[in-house]
Amino acid sequence: MRHYSLNAPAKINLYLEIIGARADGYHELAMILQSINLADQIDLHAANTQTIRVFCDHPQVPTDESNLAHRAAVLMASNFPTAFSNFGGVDITVKKRIPVAAGLAGGSTNAAAVLVGIDLLWGLGLTQSQLEELGAKLGSDVPFCIGGGTAIATGRGEQLSPLPSLNNMYLVLAKYKSLAVSTPWAYQTYREQFGAEYIKNHQDFTQRTKAVHAAEIVQAIAVQDVEVISHKLHNDLEKVVLPAYPQVLQLRELFAKQPEVLGTMMSGSGPSVFAIVESKQDAETVKEKITVAINDSDLELFVTQTIGHGIQLETRH
Ligand code: ATP
Repeated sequence: MRHYSLNAPAKINLYLEIIGARADGYHELAMILQSINLADQIDLHAANTQTIRVFCDHPQVPTDESNLAHRAAVLMASNFPTAFSNFGGVDITVKKRIPVAAGLAGGSTNAAAVLVGIDLLWGLGLTQSQLEELGAKLGSDVPFCIGGGTAIATGRGEQLSPLPSLNNMYLVLAKYKSLAVSTPWAYQTYREQFGAEYIKNHQDFTQRTKAVHAAEIVQAIAVQDVEVISHKLHNDLEKVVLPAYPQVLQLRELFAKQPEVLGTMMSGSGPSVFAIVESKQDAETVKEKITVAINDSDLELFVTQTIGHGIQLETRH
């Protein structure tokens, strides 16, 4: 029985700007996405029947057709019906290590791993851009999760411009286990509160995204200047999520007060918050200090690192 095991890393947002509302109902965004070495493990087993099944060890993750990994397999089956009928179905096992509904693209990276894994399982030989095109049908973050590393993402988040890889930047990541933020809620609330400030003319979207390509943080990434990157972190969604989640605001403020912390920001639609530090030792120190200061078993803290890749094949049998 063929079996592939894939590593599916989470992402953080070093930058998230909401530019305006698009005619298709989505927001026009300019983001800088960064892969980190906090990852789920996705195992794909060829099944004898024409079925797609998902198994997951996390109670908050559905295993039915709504699971993004399941949707990715269905998309592959409908795009490649001959391969599906020749090779049969697939059993997908998700070992969850990435916190769920945290702004870390957990579901998206699982979907990306399934696209890459089924391509291998069925011997389709798709290119990265073909996989990204399929990924965009599943969610805006899926194309990035395939190749990972460091990239500017514009449009809905699916248009990618790779940046020089920002490897080995140390981070402390924190998330309250019991808190989950709905991404649609965060964007809708932002639109209600700040929609009046949106760029209205769609032609001007391009001008604004061009400006982001030239932003100071992008230049700092090019020369791996961790200090400037840390000072130029930005996330528009903090304006709606932090006031609604005082615990997250408190965490964010506590991170900012630590002398070892170079910069701190909420990732995506939250509620996870990360802090950039200079070394692994500083990361361990900050983790310890925050653990003691907050003293709540509901708070999960991770020492993690930026990496230069997305989905990776670990083993094949
Ligand atoms: P993003 O940063 O892309 O907005 P997120 O990290 O905030 O995503 P996810 O962890 O992807 O959020 O989970 C969002 C919701 O999607 C969860 O509440 C869960 O019910 C559902 N979900 C569906 N498939 C998955 C999956 N494979 N892994 C995690 N959650 C999934």
